[in-house]
Amino acid sequence: MKLPNYVNGQWSEGTGPGEMLIDPVTADQLANISSQGVDLEAALAFARTQGAPALRQLTYVQRAELLAKIADVLAANRDEYFRLSLLNLGANQADASFDVDGATYTMKYYAKIGRALANGKMLKEGAQISLSKSSAFVGQHFLMPAKGAAVFINAFNFPAWGLCEKAAPALLSGVPVVVKPASPTAWLTHRMVEDIVKANVLPPGAISIICGSARDLLGYVQEEDIVSFTGSAETAARIRSHANVLRRSVRVNIEADSINSAILGPDCTPGTELFDLLVKEVVREMTLKAGQKCTTIRRVLVPREQIKAFGDATAARLSSMKVGNPRNAEARVGPVVNKAQQSSCLEGLDKLKQECEVLFGGDKNFQPIDADLQKSSFVQPALLFCKDGLSAKYVHDVEVFGPVATLVAYDGLDDLIAIARRGLGSLVASVFSNDASFTREAILGIGDLHGRVLAVNSAVGTQHTGHGNVVPSCLHGGPGRAGGGEELAGLRALFLYHRRFVLQGPVDGITELAGMCADTALLYS
Ligand code: NAP
Repeated sequence: MKLPNYVNGQWSEGTGPGEMLIDPVTADQLANISSQGVDLEAALAFARTQGAPALRQLTYVQRAELLAKIADVLAANRDEYFRLSLLNLGANQADASFDVDGATYTMKYYAKIGRALANGKMLKEGAQISLSKSSAFVGQHFLMPAKGAAVFINAFNFPAWGLCEKAAPALLSGVPVVVKPASPTAWLTHRMVEDIVKANVLPPGAISIICGSARDLLGYVQEEDIVSFTGSAETAARIRSHANVLRRSVRVNIEADSINSAILGPDCTPGTELFDLLVKEVVREMTLKAGQKCTTIRRVLVPREQIKAFGDATAARLSSMKVGNPRNAEARVGPVVNKAQQSSCLEGLDKLKQECEVLFGGDKNFQPIDADLQKSSFVQPALLFCKDGLSAKYVHDVEVFGPVATLVAYDGLDDLIAIARRGLGSLVASVFSNDASFTREAILGIGDLHGRVLAVNSAVGTQHTGHGNVVPSCLHGGPGRAGGGEELAGLRALFLYHRRFVLQGPVDGITELAGMCADTALLYS
């Protein structure tokens, strides 16, 4: 089976052998994809000339209604998405739910909050500025939806959520979507787009999908387009520095990899509630989606005197998490997505082992339940210990994109802050402590290098949203190594797809125009 591309308002198969999608448990060949022979320049032009004007004719409220219809389509096909998640990602129910239900929830969320923007087609920002003595001549800032296309280049680990978390704010802004999912797991994104197209929810050109290599796609982006990339820091650097992207100053949002940390406060001694909660959180993070989340805890910063107890408790819990074929009810941890990722994890693990002690797992030859060791792509969860965090190198630099975490000992607050900052910019850090002053000092020490800080004390121990969970109402993204991008954060996500301009002119005309616009203050609510 070859999955066709959807461009220029029609389905068309790419030429050549393309790339094969496989089942990471059985190594069965599932489907083929290819973007060869697809006219990518024409695909972008179609989105700009057909999809964009049709979306822009609608108001924000009307586009929010489209999002609600998309969410209904996705909800109706949930079982099929779980089936494809199992086949192409080796995802168990929890793994599939994280991606698929997260996608539908995000779409629904934007459908709901988008209604607040009322019936305008543009946004006004701030107050009028008097520019003449009589105030007859004034200035007013506006935000206008970009008239180009939103090009999404996505990572393999969230084929469903990755589509929806980007498409919802783009479509709400009136900007058509051209998505290029990561090749290894393109099937699920493809199926969602197919369902949306079949349901006839969107005008022609509002959504397109290119499966397979991005080829020369970036060579055709223009000034009014937006490129939103999620993936590794290495590919991000290539996209950012693409000659056409630079020459045309194309707006680029980058969500890249991240060495996230979780911090155990000095007050959380063994036997305390928060000690146990962080042990659980670390194991959940390592095992959900086999650790293939950009937000997964990679470093656990623990007071030196608690390292032994924390390591023992985490290893004991990890040992109860059976790894294997998700079709077997006993298995709690699935595979990584393919052999290439398995090799990359094992290579990264070897590097970490050069400066860390192994506390649990990481055996290259371990036997997963109900799976052939040679054919399947499992990685045994591994817990490591780094004694000297400040002199370590790989622990802060090598993102093993699998079920691997490293405990790093710290001695006091300054040491802790210096170690956490060695991540050089992360998506998230969490602080588990009942000591309010410790938590505050830790936040003040690391906040500028993190997109999100999760503070957990006993009062919210069972209520917090989780270290790795990205909620659409809050910011996702991180500075530095994490890419410097910003996504979600409620209606703030619309900023990426709008352009600010200031209009200077007669007060009457500007007042009338501003009266037809929703206020950007709503984006912060
Ligand atoms: P990747 O290898 O960097 O690929 C990401 C995307 O870029 C894929 O669609 C890939 O297409 C495409 N691509 C590769 N080379 C390209 C080029 N020269 N021009 C245009 N596109 C190109 O990343 P991945 O392995 O799929 O994803 C794992 C990484 O993503 C991890 O490092 C993880 O931390 C990161 N991630 C970050 C976030 C976040 O929100 N910060 C979320 C999820 C994942 P092909 O697949 O066809 O090669």
